[in-house]
Amino acid sequence: MITIDHVSRRFGDGLDAVVALDDVSIEVQRGEIFGVVGQSGAGKSTLLRTVNALERPDSGTVTVDGTVITGLEGAALRQARHKIGMVFQHFNLVGNRTVAQNVEFALEAVGVKGDERRGRALEMLDLVGLAHRAKDRPAQLSGGQRQRVGIARALASQPDVLLSDEATSALDPETTRQILDLIKRLSGELGLTVLLITHEMDVVKRICDSAALMEQGRVVEQGALEQLIRTPGSRVAAELFPVGEAHYTPGHRIIDVTYTGLSADRPVIAQLSRDFGLDVSILGAALETIRGHQAGRTRLAVPGDASVALKVIDRLTSQGVTAWEVHP
Ligand code: ADP
Repeated sequence: MITIDHVSRRFGDGLDAVVALDDVSIEVQRGEIFGVVGQSGAGKSTLLRTVNALERPDSGTVTVDGTVITGLEGAALRQARHKIGMVFQHFNLVGNRTVAQNVEFALEAVGVKGDERRGRALEMLDLVGLAHRAKDRPAQLSGGQRQRVGIARALASQPDVLLSDEATSALDPETTRQILDLIKRLSGELGLTVLLITHEMDVVKRICDSAALMEQGRVVEQGALEQLIRTPGSRVAAELFPVGEAHYTPGHRIIDVTYTGLSADRPVIAQLSRDFGLDVSILGAALETIRGHQAGRTRLAVPGDASVALKVIDRLTSQGVTAWEVHP
């Protein structure tokens, strides 16, 4: 549904140049919720703006639903954009218009007039549970409600694609969950393809089917979430499942082991699962520095009970591990 093909974008020249996007390729399937996650400055906003044709890449192309967006201008660009809705971190509502008028705004742009426009706006507000607030001003609403209006506006022109620019970053955790669940529900009901950018792994974990991890303009890891979680050494997995969380794989127990004293944990654990003939998969391993020590954290999916983990620990100890902890 969305193909980002070898897209690069650089800002500035010479020594001051910043490579915001460095040969980024991402494929978003129809109907899926795809999350691009990364820290501030990773290139996420530039990527989203490129998909929305607000930004032109130096090289590469973006295709949305079979139409190459990159390089389009005028009427062709406007038409392509109507298939794309966007929600923003700070909602971007117009303060002196009512809630309904804010949604109608998106319909004006596509030439829907009069009663039909008003009717459609109310329908959209109904979809996000806010029809009863149609006549209020945005300032009378809570943050979560304002974002619902933002979503209603984004969906008013009946787009196939919804882009979300940190849509929940300005919201508290409970409201964040509600908005994410709403996006997920609407994506299912309307068959929307969603591309969202976020700096929060929790967002990815809650609603995304697939994800890409970006760093310094590059995609360092991407794929279906389940697949990322099963990839040895996957950083997405290591971040998605902080130590202590359990029970992801059906019928398996997820056991996190943290330890110090081992510098190359992955080969050791891989060898040990072979040696014991255990059906142990390493779901995520990360070496990091904890309180000044090089520490390892490994996630194991173990069929059955924690006794398997204890065997693993025995082996780790014999390999030089000085301290360990199991989080069943
Ligand atoms: P993110 O959304 O992940 O925080 P951005 O896409 O906003 O990252 O930025 C990526 C890099 O590109 C940053 O170093 C940023 O400073 C730079 N950048 C983004 N837009 C511009 C611009 N219009 N002019 C100059 N540099 C920019």
